[in-house]
Amino acid sequence: MVCIHCGSETSVINSRPQKRLNQIWRRRRCNACGAVFTTEETAQYSAAWIVRGRPGSLQPFSRDKLFISIHKSIQHRPSALDDAGALTETVIKKLRVQAREGTVQATTITQIVQVALNRFDKAASSHYEVYHR
Ligand SMILES: [Zn+2]
Repeated sequence: MVCIHCGSETSVINSRPQKRLNQIWRRRRCNACGAVFTTEETAQYSAAWIVRGRPGSLQPFSRDKLFISIHKSIQHRPSALDDAGALTETVIKKLRVQAREGTVQATTITQIVQVALNRFDKAASSHYEVYHR
């Protein structure tokens, strides 16, 4: 990967698995300008899972969309970013069972998020319900 500031080659100077988020975090330093920045390696679910919504609607699964919808519901919490990341992974773990054939119903995702949020934060769960009825 090239430097985000000058476009020169970079080297990995540190790397850490983030088990809770199922990601690998890497610290890179530019060989030319010395700038340091972080990259994250995550699975690309959009190529693996298709979401079935309203009749006839098929869309690639988006981890970002899931993350944003969860984050919106828990943004009142001081640790919202971390919590939304962990909750997103919890939901994805449960979806793995549902998405064996490569497709998953949008309503199934909504239900799983609802259950996860309800255990975590009742206010967040009600907020989510209002937006995903
Ligand atoms: Zn650079």
